[in-house]
Amino acid sequence: MSLESTGYKSRRTFAIISHPDAGKTTLTEKLLLNSGAIHLAGEVKERGERRRTRSDWMEIEQKRGISITSSVMTFEHDGLTLNLLDTPGHADFSEDTYRTLTAVDSAIMVIDAAKGIEAQTRKLFEVCRLRDIPIITFVNKIDREARDTLEILDEIMEALALDTAPMMWPVGAGVDFNGLIDLEHGRFISTEGKPEAEAPGIEALAGRFADTQNQQIAASMEGLELASGSLPKFDQAAFEEGTLTPVYFGSALKSIGVRELLEAVCRFAPEPRTQPARPEPVDPSMAACTGFVFKVQANMDPNHRDRVAFVRVASGTLKRGMRLKNVRTGKDLKVANPMFFFARERELADEAVAGDVVGIPNHGTLSVGDTLTDGPDVTVTGIPNFAPELLRRVHLSDASKTKQLAKALNDLAEEGVVQVFKPTLGSGYYVGAVGPLQLEVLTSRAAAEYSVPIRIEPAQYVTARWVKVNDKAQFDKFAALHRLNIAEDRYGDPVFLAPSQWEIDRCAQDFPLLDFMATKDRG
Ligand code: GDP
Repeated sequence: MSLESTGYKSRRTFAIISHPDAGKTTLTEKLLLNSGAIHLAGEVKERGERRRTRSDWMEIEQKRGISITSSVMTFEHDGLTLNLLDTPGHADFSEDTYRTLTAVDSAIMVIDAAKGIEAQTRKLFEVCRLRDIPIITFVNKIDREARDTLEILDEIMEALALDTAPMMWPVGAGVDFNGLIDLEHGRFISTEGKPEAEAPGIEALAGRFADTQNQQIAASMEGLELASGSLPKFDQAAFEEGTLTPVYFGSALKSIGVRELLEAVCRFAPEPRTQPARPEPVDPSMAACTGFVFKVQANMDPNHRDRVAFVRVASGTLKRGMRLKNVRTGKDLKVANPMFFFARERELADEAVAGDVVGIPNHGTLSVGDTLTDGPDVTVTGIPNFAPELLRRVHLSDASKTKQLAKALNDLAEEGVVQVFKPTLGSGYYVGAVGPLQLEVLTSRAAAEYSVPIRIEPAQYVTARWVKVNDKAQFDKFAALHRLNIAEDRYGDPVFLAPSQWEIDRCAQDFPLLDFMATKDRG
């Protein structure tokens, strides 16, 4: 099928970033409900005639209990096509989570009103910042006890160095929650999440609570007065540059403030951006069809090696049946069955434009970071590798399988399952990941698909840094001093296996002509 609203200018491709439990799943469902993509929680929109039977690999995947349906959810609202990309959290947290952010044009940051900025939110935010991705903030769970509003805004500003423009102001929280003042429209939103028909203005609304005996509400009103004098107003340019975030408040669970958030996405979220690429950036208006793979979901069933590559279209129109060149391998690929993903179903995609995400089933021809095009050779950059947060040694129990191990590690690293580092001295391999699931997938797939039994063992290093060699002599000196800590990544680039952050800082000081990088751009 083709999506109803055509043209890339109608696409808004975004992700939700949050710490586990902040309410991402609940909010996703409520956004879909508010847009009409699903009717009741858990109910699938009937697509009537156009509905197609599910293909085999989907059934297989269902049997395995692994869902890729949620990797991307496409829905429509206000004449726009919204592509919401999932950033796996909890136990599924992995490099995919980070890489997904390279395929979006904006993000919603969900914060728990009682907990503020938490570790995972901060990490994901840093990845967004690498690409100046604009952020809309949603402070969730206002129906429960919450931190003071000004305090939350201050924390965002300080922890993330991001200006905040409050768009809503909660009147009380938890049991004292009395509604939201919509600062942009000067109207009131009730505790049921319904906007009042009249818009009397902020002052008149604040006046309603002037004589309150309730301390929480009085504090909210004082905060509002302070904020209106001191905080910046929303500014589209600053938002798009990634220096200012509009802040919404509400409750995903009770559907308060969700519609307003959805409207904010439609009004403020930018259309598909120009993708950094070599030799030239890829502009969405270009006629040539170009897309890049940001995630590969492999079938863990050894009998079915089908894999789905998630491709974000960067320019032109991807048409079903067309041939695209994989620039990395130089080989042509017929895009026979590209898929669109909806709330709980998927359909063959006849046409996709810049901003859209399609799943392309393949047998291992597509890897994370690959660029596909029907135009001149181009490679989309900015799909980085991230310094591992888990660095482990690979133990091979059967020494006769050294060759197979090398192949398994190479293939799986190419696919983006883990990163592989080979020490320049001695034998063996280290693998890096940002989430433990990646290591589990590595072990089970090495055994199932390559018959290589491996064990993952602790390493004496905590992380790795890519070393950018700006001065050969200095690098040689550094390498001589740290011989046991030098490794190569898959591309032969030098990596410092670091025993501590302290050691990284010290090396950076001692060797000012070397850069110790926490991310590395592929290609
Ligand atoms: P995720 O881990 O970020 O996807 O979070 P979930 O959406 O699974 O929510 C975690 C828990 O918080 C669940 O028990 C939700 O019911 C609850 N929750 C989510 N949003 C709200 C909210 O706005 N108010 C309250 N009180 N609970 C919420």
